[in-house]
Amino acid sequence: DERLRRVRDRVRPFPDFPEPGVLFRDISPLLKDPVAFRTLIDLLEDHLRSSFPKIDFIAGLDSRGFLIGPPLAQRLGIGFVPVRKKGKLPGPTESVCYTLEYGKAELEMQKDAVEPGQKVVIVDDLLATGGTMAAACELLKRLKAEILECLVVIELKGLKGSGKLNSIPFYSLLQYD
Ligand code: 5GP
Repeated sequence: DERLRRVRDRVRPFPDFPEPGVLFRDISPLLKDPVAFRTLIDLLEDHLRSSFPKIDFIAGLDSRGFLIGPPLAQRLGIGFVPVRKKGKLPGPTESVCYTLEYGKAELEMQKDAVEPGQKVVIVDDLLATGGTMAAACELLKRLKAEILECLVVIELKGLKGSGKLNSIPFYSLLQYD
């Protein structure tokens, strides 16, 4: 697919970032190229429109899910809710701890972000070990949202992160080994 190639061409590999041995997939060139960025949102919009008759919200993950989620939500004519790193949101919040490669982190949402039963698609730029996405799923489950799908631009297949999501539907636009 020509459109997919246009997007893939704008993902830049960076060896040894953020530490030796890691090949980081940098989406900055994709965001910088207006045609490729629009094509990315076109493809994700097509996918969601053909998969789900109704979505209430796009939930985006701190930080790069905030770059993809809002333009996608606008296309679909629906709202966006942020899933943030700990300590950034005012008012009553729900939070979930999860383990990173080194150490721990915590994700947070405002308790009134979604109502029970509302249909949500969770969006991030990339799935690696799946720890971040699994924590976001746990958070949305606690708010009693119906998670329709976890959606990422890039999946690092070798890490088998989608296995952490159990039975929740998962979709990736681009896959790398
Ligand atoms: P996981 O929790 O699946 O191991 O890591 C995924 C999270 O780390 C995502 O929020 C993603 O933004 C970030 N991340 C990890 N590796 C990369 C990478 O190579 N490229 C980008 N763009 N993000 C990464």
